[in-house]
Amino acid sequence: MSDHSEQNPAAASGETTAKPSHVYHRENVDRYIQANREMEATRRHLADASEAIHELEGSEDVAVFQKQIDLLKRRLYEQPEFFHQVFISEGSNAITWEFQQPELGKDFIRAFWNLLVREDAMSTVLMRFIWNVPLGYKRKFIRALDTHMKDRYPMFEGLSQGWPAENGISPYIRPPAERCKDFDLVSQGYLGYMGLGYSAREVELLVWLEVLRDKQCEDGPCQVGVEIPDQEEPKGGCPVRIHIPEVLRLMGEGNFRRAMEVITESNPLPNVTGRVCPQEVQCQGVCKQTKRPIEIGQIEWYLPQSMKLSADSIDDIGEVVSPWAKADRPPIAVVGSGPSGLINAYLLSKEGFPVTVFEAFHELGGVLRYGIPEFRLPNELVDDVVQKIRLLGGQFVTNFVVGKTATLESLKRAGFWKVFIGTGAGLPKFLNVPGEHMNGIMSANEFLTRVNLMQGHREGSETPLPETDGKHVIVIGGGNTAMDAARTARRLGGKVSIVYRRTQEEMPARVEELHHALEEEIDLKVLRSPKAFLGDEKTHFVSHAVLDIMELGEPDASGRRRPAATGREDTIEADLVIMALGNATNPIVKDSEPDLKTSKWGTIEIVTGQETSVDDVYTGGDAARGGSTAINAAGDGKKAALQEINERVPFNASEIRELVARAEHYTKQGQARAEIIAVTDLGLGIVEMEVRAPLVAKNARAGQFVRVLQAEKGELIPLTLADWNSETGTITLVIQGLGSSSKMINRMQVGEALAGVAGPLGRPSELHRYENGETVVFTAGGVGLPPVYPIMREHLRLGNHVTLIAGFRSSDVMFWTDAGERVEELRAEFGEQLDVIYATNDGSYGVKGFVTGPLEQMLEQNKAGNGRTIGEVITIGPPLMMRSVSDLTRGYGVKTVASLNSIMVDATGMCGACMVPVTIDGKMVRKHACIDGPELDSHIIDWDKFLPRFLQFREQEEKNKLRHGLN
Ligand code: FAD
Repeated sequence: MSDHSEQNPAAASGETTAKPSHVYHRENVDRYIQANREMEATRRHLADASEAIHELEGSEDVAVFQKQIDLLKRRLYEQPEFFHQVFISEGSNAITWEFQQPELGKDFIRAFWNLLVREDAMSTVLMRFIWNVPLGYKRKFIRALDTHMKDRYPMFEGLSQGWPAENGISPYIRPPAERCKDFDLVSQGYLGYMGLGYSAREVELLVWLEVLRDKQCEDGPCQVGVEIPDQEEPKGGCPVRIHIPEVLRLMGEGNFRRAMEVITESNPLPNVTGRVCPQEVQCQGVCKQTKRPIEIGQIEWYLPQSMKLSADSIDDIGEVVSPWAKADRPPIAVVGSGPSGLINAYLLSKEGFPVTVFEAFHELGGVLRYGIPEFRLPNELVDDVVQKIRLLGGQFVTNFVVGKTATLESLKRAGFWKVFIGTGAGLPKFLNVPGEHMNGIMSANEFLTRVNLMQGHREGSETPLPETDGKHVIVIGGGNTAMDAARTARRLGGKVSIVYRRTQEEMPARVEELHHALEEEIDLKVLRSPKAFLGDEKTHFVSHAVLDIMELGEPDASGRRRPAATGREDTIEADLVIMALGNATNPIVKDSEPDLKTSKWGTIEIVTGQETSVDDVYTGGDAARGGSTAINAAGDGKKAALQEINERVPFNASEIRELVARAEHYTKQGQARAEIIAVTDLGLGIVEMEVRAPLVAKNARAGQFVRVLQAEKGELIPLTLADWNSETGTITLVIQGLGSSSKMINRMQVGEALAGVAGPLGRPSELHRYENGETVVFTAGGVGLPPVYPIMREHLRLGNHVTLIAGFRSSDVMFWTDAGERVEELRAEFGEQLDVIYATNDGSYGVKGFVTGPLEQMLEQNKAGNGRTIGEVITIGPPLMMRSVSDLTRGYGVKTVASLNSIMVDATGMCGACMVPVTIDGKMVRKHACIDGPELDSHIIDWDKFLPRFLQFREQEEKNKLRHGLN
């Protein structure tokens, strides 16, 4: 002490009166603080008052003072630890003395807390001090907070009871009555306390108090899990092996920033995974504080979020030369922008690879965006990750469906060295019970997509939502998806019940979500399983669910007790039924790549590490695992990036530059604006449009369609391709303005751009060469003519005879039929190979009546053994016309195909909205127009059940039209 006295203002005061040592130490500490404050104040005063400085500059006082400051500064810069030592030796003696007393006094704890709140070097020392004292002292500290500080911090009240094992400070959760009316964040975490008036530093200390509960267990089960005899995988732990004990130690010692760095070394998505991981079965599930595990998840997202709020991000990327410009590593394609794809893209971009992420939707984030609602996971967090990837030079191409817009092989041909498939498991499962086809029954994917992705509940959105306000909504399932759907419906005013076939204990949802759902007055109907749905015969809307009452039997393969029907039933009201039964893997990628091996569940097989059966193609996340978790997906994406894709590059520098140039060109084509190049008004609300979409045009085949998003807040609608030109990179669409979206498209002008065009989607037409001169008959009703046109052309090119029966209301709404127009051009090109019959309802042109008239004549002729034999009939147009054609040909046993553009949302099979009930071997089976179609055997379609689906959202569509003045 004495040898430091000349630098220590407290010692320099020369006070030597004999006092008890703790008083002496405490006074020194106080004086030290006081002196520092005064010096700081004087310095500021001097700096501000420049005139005064001028005057004072020459004075002796100032010179002495300046010397003192310079000396202090020098010591501070050269030996900061010196001040710590001074403080530690002085202050900690005083503090130790206090801690040796039976309890900490009120004045002391308040002063101590105030020092902690200061957030300076000293407060860090104090944090470290507390972190390092024995548990008994820590308890004393918590008792003092509980006893003396609960007036200012009500969360301290009772904290000392059972602390640390059984008690901690809970994060702030908004009250159920308030939160279930909006989509704002429910669990506001520790930062939620800022909304109650606490400062950021006070909140940091609340987090620190939670961390103080940690035992620093040597075996670190939260990180590595717990070994279970005879089991390969440990129980629990962190799938990406975040060094949790180390993070807690650093935070305990006040080094929050370093703790954050340690987390991001293992997991670049802590702000996401901290909120959605099932911590109760992972890190917290094996925490040795068994009664009340440490809030590891909350702490995990607190760190990045608090740094974000204070604009103190540890991963400010700064100036980066884009890997595309450097071109010293070969390009990588990432398919899908869920957590597995985003992590993969982030890490590879960081390693200097030029990366393009190809995403089927118009928005990025996968389930994190379209599945998990904003009240659990704000979209801005996904945007943050996307932004980081962009800053590292990563590129994104949206509305790009791999397997349709391009194959894996064509991505490689386009210059991409390796491909990571992170396409998730987006194909919803259904129960296949009677009545499931009814309106008002949909998958959770569809419901959540309409709300989360398309924002159907917001003013101005074009996407219709089912009626929920005051309605009975039942959600079938017990996982996170069920909770999200139920809580979303609750926020939209529904009276919501969750129907689950086991009991609450077996529910696979995150415990927190289930708990929140119950708090939000969502009813649980356990040991119930839907047996059938009943509905209104006129409206075709569901009205009731008949539930089997279940009981639990022996455990099944999952270890959970198997539910079995008791034979008893329960019938409940249901205006909306949401199926949350899990998802299977979408077959689109697999179907386009025969060498890509998949399991019997459709998941992509991993051959070694994360590599698939196709060379240089990797996978991970739900695509490989089936429905899993975000952190597992992130772990797979990381492993594939760092341990497998980032390996020795087998190209020389000029080869790499060439690959980069090609992949960059391809990426730009994918990102091209869907600009409208030409518009032709075909009359009576029908418009023909030529739109730039080079990659769609390159891959389009007859019979396919595109999914169009008119504007950002628009609705996704399917439109069949009327034509395309791969050389000009354009597609032709013909749109009849019926709903508000199609009407708004029809108002667009040359030079404007659609917000998104994805495609070509659906299966191309199956083309068969008829060798015996049979004719292929097309019945096209109204705007059915444009989709018929390219299929007809392919048949003609194949050498088939074609009969076109084109029906219109009257001659004034006919199009493409004059000389020089498409139909007549075909006739000119193919001569007698093409017969054309026009029919108008009013007889103003061609045959009077519907298309079924001439068709029936041909069928009758065939029956009598006359005329050209009909090979098949392809019918496209209004649903009622297709049905009539189908009913007619059924009697004659002539193969008939209908092309169904039903109500689609995602148009890739993810939502199940385009369900077509068909009967196969006497059983009703669900087909999906976007995956199995759009062309389906019309004779197996159950038209009675299918047609009402077109009218499902009629009311909402009428409202939208009114809103836009489009009636
Ligand atoms: P996904 O997140 O599914 O992303 C796949 C992406 O690929 C999508 O954007 C999709 O559009 C795109 N894609 C698909 N096919 C193609 C194609 N052919 N071409 C281009 N792009 C394509 N997990 C948790 O850990 N905690 C939770 O609380 C939780 N809640 C959930 C709630 C819901 C409603 C759902 C549905 C899932 C939830 N999960 C939760 C699961 C978790 O979200 C997933 O395990 C995780 O998102 C999987 O990530 P992924 O990267 O494999 O795929």
